[in-house]
Amino acid sequence: MSIEPVLIIHGGAGSKTLTASRKADFTKSLQRILKECRPLLERGASALEVVTRATVLLEDDPLYNAGLGSKIQRDGHIRMSASIMDSERRRFAGCVNVEGIKNPILLARALMREKDRVLSGKGATRFARDMGLQFSSPFTPRALTDYHTKAEGKSGTVGALALDKKGRLAAATSTGGRGFEYPFRVSDSPTVAGNFASAFAAVSATGTGEEIVECAVASNICAYVEAGWTLEKAVKYVLRTAKKSGGHFGLISLDLKGRWVASSNTPLLIWAGAKKTGLTVLGRKI
Ligand code: ASP
Repeated sequence: MSIEPVLIIHGGAGSKTLTASRKADFTKSLQRILKECRPLLERGASALEVVTRATVLLEDDPLYNAGLGSKIQRDGHIRMSASIMDSERRRFAGCVNVEGIKNPILLARALMREKDRVLSGKGATRFARDMGLQFSSPFTPRALTDYHTKAEGKSGTVGALALDKKGRLAAATSTGGRGFEYPFRVSDSPTVAGNFASAFAAVSATGTGEEIVECAVASNICAYVEAGWTLEKAVKYVLRTAKKSGGHFGLISLDLKGRWVASSNTPLLIWAGAKKTGLTVLGRKI
């Protein structure tokens, strides 16, 4: 039996709404990525391959706070984190606070084949060199301006979820962090709170990392769905509970039947999805 593949991606949650020109930039970027990546699923690519490719494209676009365009920590360094998980082997891999690597998600993907699957700092960098991964500077003028104004943020982290023709789910998440945070702070993105995929559901979260971890967002939603809840009920429950304790974040989620829920308790969630029936970008069908 062939399953209809689905891809959903996000570019972060935020406290501010978008200006018309930023909205146009995001719409164009999200659409471009979906148009390149969903056909890969149609041609039989695995969910894991496609979330990796979509996240590489998001990291390469300086609009987002991941890869090129990442935010800068308090000591002037950019340290990026990413993780990836698939339902087929229920494997999770990630890298924490890596510097100068062009695509942290490719490092996480390479780590999936290893026994030691979550590496940080110098070890992760050495492994990336051994794997022949590309290095480049992630600094952009926008990130430098934010740094000089000590701007913290909760936006721009990226993520991708896919369901492939064989019914496999995968999740990928990549971030430059919160911006102006204490050096070496660890965000939620390289943890199972920020990124998780089971045989039943996949979730990528974005927002204040500490609060995402405290609510165990992604792994909890997947566990609730595995226990028989609908995806919608699981997401609503987690967001409602989070709001009571002051948690501010958003997420994209996808289940085995190809149903998605993209939701946040912040004013803004930048997301887009593609099914056979067409694209939905920033909540609008196009
Ligand atoms: N979750 C990320 C962090 O706390 C930030 C974000 O999603 O934009 O580092």
